[in-house]
Amino acid sequence: MTLTDAQANEIAAARAASSPTARPTVPALEALLFQPLPVLDHGFLRVIDYMGDDAAVVQAARVSYGRGTRRVSEDAGLIRYLMRHRHSTPFEMCAIKFHVKLPIFIARQWIRHRTANVNEISARYSVLDREFYIPAPEHLAAQATTNRQGRGAALSGEEAAEVLRVLRADATACHDHYTAMLNEDADGAPIDPARQGLARELARMNLTLNTYTQWYWKTDLHNLLHFLSLRADPHAQHEIRVYAEAMLAVLDAWVPLTAAAFRDYRLGAVTLSAGMLAVVRRMLAGEAVAQPDSGLSAREWAEVQAALRGPG
Ligand SMILES: Cc1cc2nc3c(=O)[nH]c(=O)nc-3n(C[C@H](O)[C@H](O)[C@H](O)COP(=O)(O)OP(=O)(O)OC[C@H]3O[C@@H](n4cnc5c(N)ncnc54)[C@H](O)[C@@H]3O)c2cc1C
Repeated sequence: MTLTDAQANEIAAARAASSPTARPTVPALEALLFQPLPVLDHGFLRVIDYMGDDAAVVQAARVSYGRGTRRVSEDAGLIRYLMRHRHSTPFEMCAIKFHVKLPIFIARQWIRHRTANVNEISARYSVLDREFYIPAPEHLAAQATTNRQGRGAALSGEEAAEVLRVLRADATACHDHYTAMLNEDADGAPIDPARQGLARELARMNLTLNTYTQWYWKTDLHNLLHFLSLRADPHAQHEIRVYAEAMLAVLDAWVPLTAAAFRDYRLGAVTLSAGMLAVVRRMLAGEAVAQPDSGLSAREWAEVQAALRGPG
């Protein structure tokens, strides 16, 4: 992650300012506010603002006149009940705003989550930084053989070195051509005063997908949990999952009771179909069930076995 001195000073000034408020605040999240949490090689996630806390979920569920909370154990029990029974609207009463710096190919996955408000840096207006995501060697993996969407073992030796060389060389060459077409140096001055330079909105089409972009991303707690259930999942691509994991750390600080219920009922849970449940019941009754007489497809069978086996 790279911040200019000016950017670091702006963050420090924002953190130094404070104003009294009658609104509930969360000390653990206040401690994180505005600070960039590094993700990938040049990316980050920052909390810019938030509204509500665990108590706001409880307050909305009880439609209270005051804060609406009771003993922590009662509030935790209510939040767990809401999560368990997918009574989701109380979670929509809390909101959070992030500033995210991420590679363009990950932004394309992220933007599919429509239930958020987004404002992205304009590459029609600004020149994009010369920063590209280059995977760490352990994440430079081959195509998975069992799953067409995933990745398998890490590349090694000469093959890995060559891939890294190509990624760096292509991204650098494309950015060099970008600035040459723009006819702008790093300070925005014309490189060749005799040339007009191509418009930023056109020159950007030549950049590689590992170039970093940035946006402000605001969503409510219910939709954040939906995002995390999909993107903090092992099936999600590593490069978006690391952002989801940073958000999970923010969630723990912001709404610890909701975060605990979410980990229990969503992240750590499995859904069993009626057919799968019938198989588990037969097993519990002592029957030796095999896939061919289970009524499940080979894939469903493997998923049930994996769920019953647990991680590791
Ligand atoms: C592992 C993985 C693999 C994926 N692979 C692919 C792929 O190969 N190709 C691809 O195109 N996408 C793919 N996606 C993206 C996926 O299909 C969803 O677009 C993305 O996860 C956003 O989910 P969402 O629509 O539930 O979220 P949101 O857009 O945040 O929506 C949340 C919920 O609101 C409701 N909703 C929102 N908008 C509408 C609407 N217009 N109409 C009806 N209901 C709405 C739905 O109930 C939805 O679940 C993949 C996602 C994951 C996690």
